[in-house]
Amino acid sequence: MTVDNCIFCKIIKGEIPCAKVYEDQDVLAFLDLNPAAPGHTLVLPKKHAATLLDLEPGTGDSLLQAMRKIGGALRDVAGAEGFNCVQNNFASAGQEVMHLHWHVIPRREGDLVITAWRPGKYADMAQMAQLAGQLLAAVEKSG
Ligand code: AMP
Ligand code: ZN
Repeated sequence: MTVDNCIFCKIIKGEIPCAKVYEDQDVLAFLDLNPAAPGHTLVLPKKHAATLLDLEPGTGDSLLQAMRKIGGALRDVAGAEGFNCVQNNFASAGQEVMHLHWHVIPRREGDLVITAWRPGKYADMAQMAQLAGQLLAAVEKSG
């Protein structure tokens, strides 16, 4: 998917309507058409980026601050007791729209809107340390 046929870029350009919740220079947020719960909001950078790997440096704080404000608003006016910020990268992780976005999902005690993953175990501490070492080296190499 390119910028030209990206549905979220069309929303940002005003070619497709949305139910706007927040906007600043770098960020737009609007209600998800198919909410996990009423108030479920999508938060995205205005500049097209397919996944988190493509996010322009310097935009992260604006996105995080937008989520902070929206989470507070969901508690104030949408009956949320808590909220999840969920972000899917690539189809295998459930990403359907290839324009980076966060889901801010209002939660209430016992609502089962999102079910938790099953906690697993490493074979032993050595296996865990070896993987951490590989990740540490890869992170240090990346920009
Ligand atoms: P994801 O699976 O993380 O890519 O999430 C994509 C989300 O975008 C889904 O929850 C859809 O319901 C939502 N969505 C797709 N098109 C629109 C639209 N035009 N307006 C609002 N939400 C949309
Ligand atoms: Zn886009």
